[in-house]
Amino acid sequence: MSDAFIIRPLKCGHCGAELPIMGQLVTFQCQTCFKHWVLSPEGLKPVVLYRAQPAKECEGKPVYLPFWIIEIDTSGLREQVTTVVEDIMVTTRTIAGAQLEPEEESDIESLMRENLGISQATRISHLRESATKTVSAPTSAEVNHLIRRLEAAGTYHVYVPAFQSRNTYAYLKIGKLLTKQQPHFKVKRAEDIQRSVLCALQADEAVALIDFVFFATLSESIRENGDFLKHIRLKPAKPPFLVEFPFIRHHHSYESLITEFHVSRKLISLDS
Ligand SMILES: [Zn+2]
Repeated sequence: MSDAFIIRPLKCGHCGAELPIMGQLVTFQCQTCFKHWVLSPEGLKPVVLYRAQPAKECEGKPVYLPFWIIEIDTSGLREQVTTVVEDIMVTTRTIAGAQLEPEEESDIESLMRENLGISQATRISHLRESATKTVSAPTSAEVNHLIRRLEAAGTYHVYVPAFQSRNTYAYLKIGKLLTKQQPHFKVKRAEDIQRSVLCALQADEAVALIDFVFFATLSESIRENGDFLKHIRLKPAKPPFLVEFPFIRHHHSYESLITEFHVSRKLISLDS
């Protein structure tokens, strides 16, 4: 049994110094050479930490919350959206246009028809209508809007919150807000900062969440279209990068210092 678990001290891959234990956190900073490391399925990997510069004046010390930012291959996504919508439309037309063979009427049906005046043609049109409803494409206006948005973006980033949260829903909500806004901000490398990064999410875990965050930014009618969503998969254009965003405490929330939004303090757990 004991052979199955080997506990090794975490060591800096650069200078060999032992890394501090970080509890739930997945990022480590070497106390000797100050390099940052992040856990991955293949073990510790070096990570460059960036810090967004506050765009607003603030009193007091900002709280820095980490996010993984993933640049998306937008041309690939545009192609997927177009193909998926075309496929759905073809399926819809095939079902709608299918010749539904008149079935033999049962005695009860013919009795109903004679008495209620419901014709075979009406029955077929009802069937056709309900068949069409089972597969539906998002309207072209919605899809065009989505494609225009992707084109206008040039580069499009998905933001995945990486801090520890008691509420998984928070990830989706905050990620959605930032992804929708595509904020502009300046970053600096933060290698020299001697303070732990509150990152509780590995890069590959963040990549696994990009579809969900992106879907959350879409209009309700697209979101509810299972046929559409199940074929869309976002592909990162580059490896994710880790950025800390400055926030300031304000009553029960953290207010962003780079863009217009705030996060309820309840959603964030800052203790490691
Ligand atoms: Zn080191």
